[in-house]
Amino acid sequence: MNETERIVQQFQTTPPSCIAAFRVTPAKLPIEWDQSCRSIWRLSCDCGGERGRVLGYPLSEYNKDLPDGADCLIGPISFECVSCGKVTTVIDTDRHGYSAEVAKREGGIGSAIYRGSGLPAAWGCPQCDSRVFSLTVAFIFWDAVFDLAADGLGWPLQEFFTVFLSFAQCSECRQLSEPTNFGKL
Ligand SMILES: [Zn+2]
Ligand SMILES: [Zn+2]
Repeated sequence: MNETERIVQQFQTTPPSCIAAFRVTPAKLPIEWDQSCRSIWRLSCDCGGERGRVLGYPLSEYNKDLPDGADCLIGPISFECVSCGKVTTVIDTDRHGYSAEVAKREGGIGSAIYRGSGLPAAWGCPQCDSRVFSLTVAFIFWDAVFDLAADGLGWPLQEFFTVFLSFAQCSECRQLSEPTNFGKL
């Protein structure tokens, strides 16, 4: 196995630490994407529950110029299990992702443009407005991770993702929607 294959395998077996509190199952990307390295996981609460509410902050409350249909949740994103009620953080872009990792090492804080605060809202199915979903998340890595690997400094490469994707499957109508739209992290 060469170095590139080893890294690709690492991403498929080692989830980023932001989802460490979940039980995770390797999953496939449900949409088309480019050939970048990726790490994809179906999340379950640590009670084993797979259905829950996806919590975050509606971007429309922070950016009033948003076009119709473009609303999504900004972070921190969390998952509230409907079986046991536990709320588990999925991602906080101030703390997770490539820029946050680099910033941490430089003693700063991450660079997400918007970050919500206060009481979060629950994502609604665009088709039936149900609030209960099963959640799959994907972390996409750009080729810069290979430069990090080449440093030989033992970077935790799985933390250096540049795109975070989330896929919520509605428990009522099975429609798949994307609650988040995080660009370059
Ligand atoms: Zn639970
Ligand atoms: Zn639905």
